[in-house]
This record gives sequence, structure tokens and C-alpha cells, in this order.
Amino acid sequence: MSTANVSLNLADIRARSYAWELSRYVTQEQIEKHRAEARAWYAANKERHRAKAKIWAEANREKILAAQRKSYNAHIEARRAQSKKYYEANRDDKLAKSKAHYEANREKRLAQCKARYEANRDEIRDKVRVTGAKWRAANREKIATYDAKRYAQNPDKINAWSKRWKDANPGKVKARNARWDADNPGRRAALRNAWMAANPERVALHAARHSAKRRSLLADVGTFSIREWKALLAATGHKCLCCGVSESEAIFSFPKKGAPRVGRLTKDHIIPITQGGTGTIDNIQPLCLPCNQRKSNRHIDYRTHPRSSIRR
Ligand SMILES: [Zn+2]
Repeated sequence: MSTANVSLNLADIRARSYAWELSRYVTQEQIEKHRAEARAWYAANKERHRAKAKIWAEANREKILAAQRKSYNAHIEARRAQSKKYYEANRDDKLAKSKAHYEANREKRLAQCKARYEANRDEIRDKVRVTGAKWRAANREKIATYDAKRYAQNPDKINAWSKRWKDANPGKVKARNARWDADNPGRRAALRNAWMAANPERVALHAARHSAKRRSLLADVGTFSIREWKALLAATGHKCLCCGVSESEAIFSFPKKGAPRVGRLTKDHIIPITQGGTGTIDNIQPLCLPCNQRKSNRHIDYRTHPRSSIRR
């Protein structure tokens, strides 16, 4: 027989004999009475007892925390498994509850968040900027996949958002495009050409719409005859009023391959139609295509411009 067993048996014997001794002198009623008294004392001194316990807990805070930590760490895997199991078993319930709570306290919570944000605005912004940039840099592919998926789900909505943002931030768009062009020289033109080659019907549709729009615009703003145009060319010496190139040398097409076609001037609207210009001959000036494109949608009158070659 081992020592452990002996001491265990001794303790057992002692406990039993104590109970037996007790039963000889103390009746069950006495035990109940004693218990009732102890309960009453505890109830009467509850506050005092609690205060004392609190004082002890405060004095031994570190000790208690260490014990809690030790116990927590000793059973960490089991605890995690348990809480995971509990969460999974009560998932729907928990989600519904937290959603209901959120809905019920939505205004309050939003106000709290807003107040907190306003109070720590700069700090939060800096933090978000840094962590956001770090995360985005580390998750480029993830973001691209997510964006593509969202776009595929609702292209019209995304396009509308994008357009609204672009309309509201023209400066940012311009800067971003310029940055991208600088980083990707020649890429924009290549992409556009590839897209146009791959989508001939879209290109044709766009051109048809553009000319229909232009025709309807011109119908509203007036027009001029070929005779008037020829008279204007004669009056201006058959030259581009901007660069002075003669009609026979003037570029009037940008073919994708080979030399550009020459020998014609374009009919530029001095005040663009979109800016209230008329379609009549007094608002027309002959320009070569490159000059016309460079002028774009601006109001420049080359008839009175220093470089004008008009015959008076
Ligand atoms: Zn020109």
C-alpha cells in the first residue's frame, strides 16, 4: 500500500468520524438553525461584507488579474472552441439581436460616431490614410477582383456613381489622367485604338449619333451654303486662318496608318455651337484639322487674330 493511499484513507476516516461525532451532539434541527442564522447574518451584513470584499479585491488587484490571466491562458484553446461553438449555434439569433439593437439605436450611434469623428478628425484621417494605403498596396488583386465583381453585378449603378464623382471633381479627374498619362506614355491612344478596332459597331453608332446631334443643332442655329463656303475660302486665300498652311497642303484626316490625307480645310465654328454660336457663315472660319482640333471647344476668332491671313 502506497503512502498516498494511506493518507487518503486517514483523511476519509477522520471526516467520517467527525461527522459521526457531530451527529452524536448536534441534531439536524440545530444544523438547520445554525445555517439559517448564518444566512440571516450574511443578509444583515451583506453591504459590509461586500465592501470588505471590494477593499480586498482592490488591494489585491494584480494578484486577481494574474490568477485570471493564468486560468484564461491555461484553457485558452478550450475557451475559444467553446465560444466558437456557442457563436455558431446562436449565430442567427445573435446577428438578429445586434441588428435590432443597431436599428433601435441607430440615430444615437451615428451621432456618437460623428461626434467622436469630429473631435478627432485630423488624427483619424491620418490614421485611415496610412492604414488604408498600406492595406490597398498589400491587396491590389483582391481589390481588383472585388471591383470587377461589383461592376459586373451592377454596371449602370457604378457608371452613374463614377460619372457623378467625375462631374463633381473635374480638377481631380484632370490631374489623375495627367498622372496616368505620364506613367503610361502612349498607352491611352493604344487602348482607344484597340477598343475602336474591337467595337466597330459602337464606333459607327457613336458617329451616327454625333452627326445626328450635330444636324439637329445646326437646324436650330442656322446653316450656310456651299457657295458661301467657297466664297469664304476665296476671301481668305484658301489658307488655314490659324497656321497659314494652304488648302492643297492642309491636313484634314488622321488615318491610323500611312500619311494623313491633305487638300481640304475644315469649317470651324468661331463661337462653338455649344456656347451659343450660330451655324451661319459669319460664324465660320477655315482651319486645317490639326488647328481645329487644337482650338477644340474654345472661342477664338482667327479672322481678327494676329496670325490671321484674311484678305481685306
Ligand atoms: Zn492650321
